[in-house]
Amino acid sequence: MTQLSIHNPATGATLTTVPADDAASVAAKAAQARAAQPGWAATPIVQRKSCIEKFRAGVVRDLESLAATMTRETGKPIKMSRNELNGLLGRIDFFLKETESSTATRTVYDEGGMREQIQHVPLGVVGNISAWNYPWFVGCNVIVPALLTGNTVLYKPSEYATLTGLEIARLLHEAGVPRDVFITLVGEGAVGAALLEQDIDGLFFTGSHATGARIARAVGSRFIKLQLELGGKDPTYVCDDADPKAAAESLADGAMYNTGQSCCSVERIYVHEKIHDAFVAAFVDTVNGFKAGDPMSEDTYIGAITRAPQLDVLDAQVADARAKGAVLHTGGNRLAGPGNGFEATVFSNVTHGMELMKEESFGPLIGIQKVSGDEEAVKLMNDTRYGLTAGVYTPDRQRAEAVLSKVNAGSVYWNCCDRVSPRLPWSGYGDSGVGLTLSTYGIQTFTRPKAWHLRQA
Ligand code: NAD
Repeated sequence: MTQLSIHNPATGATLTTVPADDAASVAAKAAQARAAQPGWAATPIVQRKSCIEKFRAGVVRDLESLAATMTRETGKPIKMSRNELNGLLGRIDFFLKETESSTATRTVYDEGGMREQIQHVPLGVVGNISAWNYPWFVGCNVIVPALLTGNTVLYKPSEYATLTGLEIARLLHEAGVPRDVFITLVGEGAVGAALLEQDIDGLFFTGSHATGARIARAVGSRFIKLQLELGGKDPTYVCDDADPKAAAESLADGAMYNTGQSCCSVERIYVHEKIHDAFVAAFVDTVNGFKAGDPMSEDTYIGAITRAPQLDVLDAQVADARAKGAVLHTGGNRLAGPGNGFEATVFSNVTHGMELMKEESFGPLIGIQKVSGDEEAVKLMNDTRYGLTAGVYTPDRQRAEAVLSKVNAGSVYWNCCDRVSPRLPWSGYGDSGVGLTLSTYGIQTFTRPKAWHLRQA
């Protein structure tokens, strides 16, 4: 059997090796998930909910060791690993509370002996190919509602978060979810590609635009449900009436949290010319207070770059920006080893001719651009092929709403950033993907609305 090596990106050390799947084992597991699906769909919802409640209790019980595992394999600072797990509990609670009511059969017409009903039936077998940067969040956004609504799940965790994926499986199985109802596929991209070949009814993907496009091409002619949650180049505009220091502190966190490796990291900042210099000074001050180092240390804020190749992307964006006249205020270099480290890096005087204002950096790197007013800010914010999130900082709600209503993004923020709520749909415009998770729509998405036309004879 092939093996997958798991590395610690903060030290470069090999943590362990685990047995990996191949095309034959993926096919066998897909057949198991298919055979188990009708039985799981017929299991009363109270029983399915009880499994997820026990899963939640397992997360609470094992939280410290789960956080340490995630930190060791992804380089996420330990406090942020705990934050992710604690945040997950609220998401699970939301799904537990809302699944039954949002998928109950509804009568939408009942007159003259004719009744019309909408029933939510499970999709069937759901494939989930996941990313590493928030493995609990992005995994459970799919896994939990998919299981609650009666689907069986073939889950391919990222090769950079495999131990976490195996922990998710352990806790679900301990909680009573049958082993053939939730099945983990271990491996790199080839294992994900093998999953696409199987008899599945839905494919839910979180990851890069490049892989998402490959997946869309692979399954496009199959007409299965396809959801792609991809990257972003998320902009924020700081208006002239905003408090530059407060906005800078909030946005520095939004740009650098999780070492900048969040799909909704702030990736571009536009600042009104009247407060630009004060904002940049406060932003650089805040960033210089972020401690880089061992992700297991309680006071580390900048952890490791999880995927080593991303260091080349950061180097190239820095070199391109410098060559084209951007002003470097702090950072700009890899951190001395061991492991994959990059300094928190801030540029101003950037333009859309530079890569760092066009392509996802996915690291602790930010460009700040001066603008003359709201109109120019909106134009620049929309000058992108992505559209995941966008924000505005101003005390004036009307002004914020006027700007945000013109911005093409799935989520918009007023005086906040880098925020996800289980109650709101999570989706993107353009190359940020198709479909959605979270909210009641993100529960219904794991079902087919079946139309019943009923006439009493
Ligand atoms: P990635 O595309 O490299 O990998 C994602 C998954 O796809 C992994 O499990 C990988 O093994 C698998 N894969 C690779 N090649 C495949 C193929 N040919 N067929 C099938 N599967 C394949 O992405 P990543 O580095 O894990 O994640 C980072 C990206 O994810 C960033 O762009 C980030 O913005 C995005 N992201 C988006 C969201 C969102 O909600 N929109 C959330 C988290 C991350």
